[in-house]
Amino acid sequence: MVVADAVSKSFGSNEVLKSISLEVKQGEVLCLVGPSGSGKSTFLRCINHLEVLSSGKLSVDGQLVGFREAGDKLYELHPKEAAKQRRDIGMVFQKFNLFPHMTAIENIMEAPIRVKGQKKAVAEKRARELLERVGLADRADYYPAHLSGGQQQRVAIARALAMDPKLMLFDEPTSALDPELVGEVLDVMKELAKSGMTMIVVTHEMGFAREVADTLVFMDGGVVVEAGDPREVLANPQHQRTKAFLSKVL
Ligand code: ADP
Ligand code: MG
Repeated sequence: MVVADAVSKSFGSNEVLKSISLEVKQGEVLCLVGPSGSGKSTFLRCINHLEVLSSGKLSVDGQLVGFREAGDKLYELHPKEAAKQRRDIGMVFQKFNLFPHMTAIENIMEAPIRVKGQKKAVAEKRARELLERVGLADRADYYPAHLSGGQQQRVAIARALAMDPKLMLFDEPTSALDPELVGEVLDVMKELAKSGMTMIVVTHEMGFAREVADTLVFMDGGVVVEAGDPREVLANPQHQRTKAFLSKVL
């Protein structure tokens, strides 16, 4: 579903991603961990068309992200074509970014109606199903300000799912939450993983990574230092940098 082949990204002279190569198969969950500033968000942003690669290739479901290949040359996609690719990718951020002037259900219905041209009744039916799925059937008409952080993040997940993505990206989805609200969001993500969704999750929740991830990738300084079965990497890290990081978060 996702293939990164020597993906590099620089901001000016600052090389933030240095030849990242990895794969996520359909239905797999990859957890990406590493110290602050190691390039995790930048990598997700490259997958989701929010940054353009400096070099290398990235594809989602067999399609190059942001580029068209002709012979041995790459051409940047027209913004309209890029937007079309982007519809298939759901992203959930640390800050929930719900529209404050819309209720929970309106937040979920917005993109299917505006972007996909769904009929209101169709979008509403689906939004109710998704609210049920994230355990918020009784909060449909609440505004974000009247929901807890955990509830807002579950609405944000439902909103992303409303576009029927092939791939879900999570960038520290529980880092802004009070500790007692983390579990309810991780539970929704676990259920999503079980249902077969392909996911890349940047997180410091090692318990989640151990239980749910097929692969744990440890990144530092823009490179993949170590990757493998999460139980093995966590129990028996091979590199000093991985050991040092894990000793801080475990
Ligand atoms: P992480 O998510 O692992 O904490 P980031 O991907 O956010 O790391 O950032 C990696 C590095 O890239 C940091 O040094 C950051 O300052 C730099 N960076 C990220 N985005 C930009 C940008 N838009 N312009 C310049 N530098 C950036
Ligand atoms: Mg980040």
